[in-house]
Amino acid sequence: MPSGTRIAIVGGGLAGLAAANALKRAGIEAQVFEAAPALGEIGAAVNASPQAVKALRAIGAGDRVAAVGHLSRGIYTRNMQTGEFLEFNDRHKAAERFGAPYYTFHRADLVDALAGGVDLGAVHLGHRLTGLEERGDRVELAFANGAQIEAEYVIAADGIRSVVRQALYGDDNPAYTGQMVWRALLDAADVPEDVLEPMGHTQWVGPGCHFIGYYIRRGRQVNIVTQEDTDKWVEEGWSTRGDPDEMRLSFPNPEPRLAKLMSLVTEVSKWGLFTRPLTRNWGRGRIQLIGDAAHAMLPNAGQGACQAFEDAYILSRWLQACSDPAEAFDNFRRVRIPRVHGVQRLSLSNARFKHMRDAAVQKDLIASGKGSAHGNSEWVWGFDPVAEWNKEPSVPAVYAA
Ligand SMILES: Cc1cc2nc3c(=O)[nH]c(=O)nc-3n(C[C@H](O)[C@H](O)[C@H](O)COP(=O)(O)OP(=O)(O)OC[C@H]3O[C@@H](n4cnc5c(N)ncnc54)[C@H](O)[C@@H]3O)c2cc1C
Repeated sequence: MPSGTRIAIVGGGLAGLAAANALKRAGIEAQVFEAAPALGEIGAAVNASPQAVKALRAIGAGDRVAAVGHLSRGIYTRNMQTGEFLEFNDRHKAAERFGAPYYTFHRADLVDALAGGVDLGAVHLGHRLTGLEERGDRVELAFANGAQIEAEYVIAADGIRSVVRQALYGDDNPAYTGQMVWRALLDAADVPEDVLEPMGHTQWVGPGCHFIGYYIRRGRQVNIVTQEDTDKWVEEGWSTRGDPDEMRLSFPNPEPRLAKLMSLVTEVSKWGLFTRPLTRNWGRGRIQLIGDAAHAMLPNAGQGACQAFEDAYILSRWLQACSDPAEAFDNFRRVRIPRVHGVQRLSLSNARFKHMRDAAVQKDLIASGKGSAHGNSEWVWGFDPVAEWNKEPSVPAVYAA
C-alpha cells in the first residue's frame, strides 16, 4: 500500500480501535471518527478466545490486554432447575492446545487497552457520521457536527446500525431476533464462593433460556448475562434499565446456586438482540466494513468482538501486501466471509441447543457426544490469524453454506 494514503475509520468501538492499532502497527496512517464524546463501552463484559488473543497480540495490544484480562478456566454447564452438571468446556486445555489464553474482560478495560495503542490525536470524538459519498478517487464524509472530510479509503466500524452500510446498501435494518438479554454486574465479595464453583464460570440452561455468571477484573466482579426467547419487544441498547424482579421471574424454579446469584441483583439492564441475515455485503471499492457493521451475530459463540479482532489484523496484513487498497479489500472479503459466515451459523446453532425445551433430550445429546452448548468451536479457536491471514480457512461442513 502506498505510504501517506489516508484511511478514515468510522467508529471507535472494539472493531474500530482494533483496526486503528493494527494499521498503526503496519505503518499505515489512519484517523478514527467516533460519534460518542468519549471512548468507552457500557455493557458489562466480553470474552476473547485464543485465536482472538493471537490477533490482539499481533496488533500490538497483547501486554495491555493481558494486564486487564481474567483467565477463564472453562464453562461449567448445569441444568437451571436441578443444578445437575451437564458438561464442562475446558478453556484451560484449549489455551494450552492453541497457544493463547481465553480471557474474560470488563468491556471498558478492553476499550482502554486498545485506546492505549492509538495516537489519541488521530481519534476524533463527537464525530457522528451522517453520510458519505464516493467521488472518483476520494470518499467524502459528512458529520453531524458540521465537519466534512475527504478520505481515500474508509473502514466502517460503526456497529450494527452502520450508517456506512446504509449508504452503500440502503435499508437492511437488523431485525429483532425474538431474544433478549439481561445484564448485571456484582461485587465478587458479595457472591458466596460455592455459587460459581467449581470453575468460576457457570452457565445454567433451561427451556427457552440460559443464564451465565463469571468472574471478570481478576475476580473482583461477577458478570451476569442471560438470554431468553421472548416476543416482548425490547429496545436495543446496553443502558435500558430493567427490573430485577422481572428478571428473576424470567428464570422460574431456579436451583439454589442460581437463586442465590439472582437474589443479589439490585440493578439490571436489558437489551434486545438484533441481527441481520448472513450477507456478502461487506463493502466495495474504497469502502470496507468490519465488525458488527459487516457481520452482527448472536452472542452464543462469544465471537462478535473476536471476529472483529481477526478482521482488524487480517485487513492490515492485506493492506500491507497489496499496492492497491481496493484489491486488499477484495482479498480481505474473499478470506473472511466464509469463515465469519461459519461462525454466525455456529452462534445460531448454539442458541438453539442451549434453549432446547426438552431437558432429557438435551442431556442425552450431550452425554452421547452428539450435542453441546458450545457446538464445535475447535475450528474457531484453532485458527491462527497470524499464520493463516492470507488463506481461506476451512469451515466444518455443518457450519458451511
Ligand atoms: C449480550 C452480548 C454478549 C456478547 N458477548 C461477547 C463475547 O463474549 N465475546 C465476543 O467476542 N463478542 C461478544 N458480543 C459481541 C460484541 O459485543 C460485538 O460484536 C462487538 O462489540 C462489535 O464491535 P463493533 O466495534 O463492531 O461495534 P460496536 O461495539 O457497536 O461499536 C461501534 C462504534 O461505532 C460508533 N458509531 C456508531 N455509529 C456511528 C456513526 N454514525 N458515526 C461515528 N461513530 C459511530 C459507536 O459509538 C461505537 O463506538 C456480545 C454481544 C452481546 C449483545
